Amino acid sequence: MTPKVMRSLRGELLEQEPLARHTSWRVGGPARRFYRPADAADLVEFLARLDPEEPLLWLGLGSNLLVDDVGFPGTVIQTQGCLVRLERLGQRGIYTESGVSCAKVARFAARHDLVGGEFLAGIPGTMGGALAMNAGAWGGETWGQVVRVRTVDRTGQVRERLPADFVVGYRDVVGPPGEWFLDAELVLAPGDGKAGMARIRELLDRRAETQPIGLPSCGSVFRNPPGDHAARLIEAEGLKGHRIGGAQVSEKHANFIINTGQASAADIRELIDLVQHRVEQATGVRLVPEVKRIAGDHP
Ligand SMILES: Cc1cc2nc3c(=O)[nH]c(=O)nc-3n(C[C@H](O)[C@H](O)[C@H](O)COP(=O)(O)OP(=O)(O)OC[C@H]3O[C@@H](n4cnc5c(N)ncnc54)[C@H](O)[C@@H]3O)c2cc1C
Repeated sequence: MTPKVMRSLRGELLEQEPLARHTSWRVGGPARRFYRPADAADLVEFLARLDPEEPLLWLGLGSNLLVDDVGFPGTVIQTQGCLVRLERLGQRGIYTESGVSCAKVARFAARHDLVGGEFLAGIPGTMGGALAMNAGAWGGETWGQVVRVRTVDRTGQVRERLPADFVVGYRDVVGPPGEWFLDAELVLAPGDGKAGMARIRELLDRRAETQPIGLPSCGSVFRNPPGDHAARLIEAEGLKGHRIGGAQVSEKHANFIINTGQASAADIRELIDLVQHRVEQATGVRLVPEVKRIAGDHP
């Protein structure tokens, strides 16, 4: 569809944009409308004009989203490539807008001799997605570094919020309803940037050894249950390599489901349900999906 420029808005509005182009599983039908704001001010203006009934979905890099094959019957707001300001703040701080990739923040920090953010390097999402999910790896978690965020609601009202305004758990964040992340201020420890870069390379190498990097996936499909690993439980059921249509439980990491080429969202959903069912039948443990499913009948 040809991009439209909305009067006095500076962003780009697409119609019927296939979401498979914007999700790491490479599945998902079209969004009725898809907005790429020019910057934060433009986004605020867009939201202020939005129909209060319009279903809204915020999208970073789509690395934790399972969008149904029928698509999304509302407006998708894309932050990646749009909200991209990244700056040093004082001695230990970093200001990042929500569309900046986690990898970029990790490297930026190391280049400025700030350490503690190396774990972000291998998370293939945006900072907005990382804030929404409390993304983490190798013992680090996004909210461990956050001192302040700004949110925006669907009327375009911007608010400054503190970590105390959110209940932050394992891959789970509950905040004031109807607010999304515009930007964040992080505080890291002063340290040796060269050692930080070396740590980043080491963590990326470890990922490449254990995860099917490069194949379309959403990372870990299920949260780890308390005291155990979802991958261990799935592997113990002999489900590695199990396929439904084009979706397959990875041979390399049992908590990853990969799109072997032609998977539909329905194939992936069925495989998630099957894994959940088989593990629960055998062990009594009901695995909880970490990925966010966006249903075609999304309210
Ligand atoms: C190969 C691979 C490895 C991965 N490894 C890890 C890992 O080690 N640790 C980990 O935690 N995750 C991992 N993930 C999952 C994923 O990268 C993270 O959950 C990431 O934080 C999602 O960011 P995103 O920008 O892609 O968000 P999206 O997938 O676009 O969105 C995820 C959720 O966040 C919401 N959201 C997005 N932007 C905003 C915003 N600005 N304000 C409010 N809500 C927003 C969306 O609406 C959605 O509900 C991995 C994924 C892949 C594909």
